[in-house]
Amino acid sequence: MRLILFGPPGAGKGTQARQLVERFHLKQISTGDLFRAALRDETPVGLEAKGYMDRGELVPDSVVNKMVEEALGAIGNDHYILDGFPRTTEQARWLLGYLDEHDAPLDAVISLKVDPELIVQRLSRRRTDKETGAIYHLDFNPPPADLPADRLVHRSDDQPDAIRTRLGVYEADTRPLAAIFEQEARFAEIDGVGEIDEVQGRIMDALRTLGARGIEATS
Ligand code: ADP
Ligand code: ADP
Repeated sequence: MRLILFGPPGAGKGTQARQLVERFHLKQISTGDLFRAALRDETPVGLEAKGYMDRGELVPDSVVNKMVEEALGAIGNDHYILDGFPRTTEQARWLLGYLDEHDAPLDAVISLKVDPELIVQRLSRRRTDKETGAIYHLDFNPPPADLPADRLVHRSDDQPDAIRTRLGVYEADTRPLAAIFEQEARFAEIDGVGEIDEVQGRIMDALRTLGARGIEATS
């Protein structure tokens, strides 16, 4: 199965991707996670990305595309879920060309719709377990009481200024991709508001309706 989860920052892409990964045995390719790992390891890509990430701006397309090409190649271009990529028209065009070249079409692009006010609430209280990558929310999806507090990370770009910048960048550069996907892929937009499991149910329904490969095996 080859999937893309699309939507604004804080829509719940990472949260939903983690459930889909378990269910369908997929590899999650999150460009944000790859950049944060590169930054931790102080690689040239990580150091180049840092300033853009701190400000909430996009890392240049050439850097992102190259990283995704390596990640896709490493897993034979199948059984993955892309989260946070593509985010610009150039990234989308590059990806569609790459998949075409490798005769590896997408099974589905699922777009999660969430209003900006709710996004700010979600991002400002998001916390991540730095050891497992699990995503929590202090009110909506609280971490287990016995999780040591020093494992919970508040991302430096989940601050009001960077959140505002990211939402602006989403509107200007990323939202327009929905039209490309609508035309070039099996595309569905679903409501991203509601309990996490409810949203997962809507994604499953959309995958069934779109006839994504591998969906038959699940109930
Ligand atoms: P994205 O990957 O799209 O940026 P995340 O999956 O990291 O989004 O979710 C952003 C925040 O919203 C996290 O704190 C997460 O726990 C919370 N969240 C995700 N899905 C829901 C939901 N359906 N209802 C309430 N909060 C949610
Ligand atoms: P969120 O899902 O909360 O928006 P991500 O973890 O996906 O955050 O991304 C964090 C940051 O990493 C972005 O603000 C941006 O600087 C960089 N980044 C991630 N994915 C891309 C991409 N596809 N293109 C450009 N920059 C990206």
